[in-house]
Amino acid sequence: MSELEDARQNLEEALNAIGKEEYYDHLKHPERFVEVNFPVSMDDGSKKVFTGYRSQHSTVRGPGKGGIRFSPNVNEEEVKALSIWMSLKCAVADIPYGGAKGGVIVDTEEISHAEEERLSRRYIDAIAEVIGVNHDVPAPDMNTTSKHMAWMMDEYSSDNREHRPGVITGKPVEAFGSEGRDVATGYGAAYVIERIIEDENLNPDELTAAIQGFGNAASPAVKKLIDMGVNVVAVSDHIGATYNENGFTREELTSCDNDPGIVCKAGEDLENGELLELEVDFLVPAAIENVITEENADNVSADYVVEIANGPTTREADEILEEKDITMVPGILANSGGVTVSYYEWVQNRTGEYWTKEEVLERLRENIQNAYEQFRQVQEEEDVYGRQAAYIMGARKIVEALESREYM
Ligand code: NAD
Repeated sequence: MSELEDARQNLEEALNAIGKEEYYDHLKHPERFVEVNFPVSMDDGSKKVFTGYRSQHSTVRGPGKGGIRFSPNVNEEEVKALSIWMSLKCAVADIPYGGAKGGVIVDTEEISHAEEERLSRRYIDAIAEVIGVNHDVPAPDMNTTSKHMAWMMDEYSSDNREHRPGVITGKPVEAFGSEGRDVATGYGAAYVIERIIEDENLNPDELTAAIQGFGNAASPAVKKLIDMGVNVVAVSDHIGATYNENGFTREELTSCDNDPGIVCKAGEDLENGELLELEVDFLVPAAIENVITEENADNVSADYVVEIANGPTTREADEILEEKDITMVPGILANSGGVTVSYYEWVQNRTGEYWTKEEVLERLRENIQNAYEQFRQVQEEEDVYGRQAAYIMGARKIVEALESREYM
């Protein structure tokens, strides 16, 4: 099944579950989809034409929101699918945004730094007519960083002859980015776990967690969980995993001059797959997609799976986890801390008032824990498994926004 088919099927199932199937024909397509083809000056003096896209799936709940990826694999269907996910995600995260996504077909390994800057500027020029502070607000995604966002903001502002930082988020703090954005995804997931611990009246000191991954999203989650008193007993990177039944300190995992994304192997060596099957309270896949599959789902022994990665659990594995009565907090909710702080960045850019890291993180904590409570309520009311509950929650909010204007 292609990503677009998958996104559409989830949307259709959620709309059917709430008896709003008549909205499917509208929501299965983006409101607007543009393809742009633009020449970029290369270092050798030649011009090369690149192709990019922007898909605005829904703007009924607010401006479109979604990243821009640079990858040779970017294609029309993928961008459309990802824009559907963003509409659902922003609704689940309870932030006033719709969903969008963009991308350029390019292998960033094959171009120079200067070419990458010119490509970023030309792409934003090419889509300038359809984005804007109140229309569609891009952000970083695969192979784009705060540096690309700073170039794009700069280009867009120059063209408009005025300062427009709110047109894009994920910018460096020095260029109107938000404090706390770097840790937002990981902390957001940890705040969800904090709420589970409170709701279930658990004692963090008696709880264990295994985290797959130690990159931008996972590493702050590990830190926050350790700060909360949870015993982080296993952490991995793409090379392998490290295990200590008594739990690691933050220093043990970081004090070996490790490269970004690599965890210090301070305990017993484990295979990456073994980490997923540990008997822990919380399993947090935070690295790559499709790691919990039909093959290993039956061996997952955690009480809770809290997804930080996008799509770490396959559809078939999800059914097995449900049969095993494992509680699932899907990525669409658990990794929404990043997009939530992107929203805070936009609010700060629009008001011109800037918040401290503590303020940003406190707002994030309150927002994601509220979203989690709403999610729990939907799960109970509809008597459905975690992932379906999140899709129902997202689809319902989008439909409510459409109905408030008697759109159909
Ligand atoms: P990253 O590149 O910073 O880190 C990836 C980590 O995964 C590294 O530690 C790497 O060693 C590890 N890894 C790679 N292959 C692995 C494998 N086969 N087994 C075990 N570990 C492996 O990436 P990131 O930004 O932290 O993103 C991780 C996941 O979280 C992705 O699915 C991403 O889509 C999702 N996500 C990230 C953010 C964010 O703000 N960074 C937001 C939402 C979702």
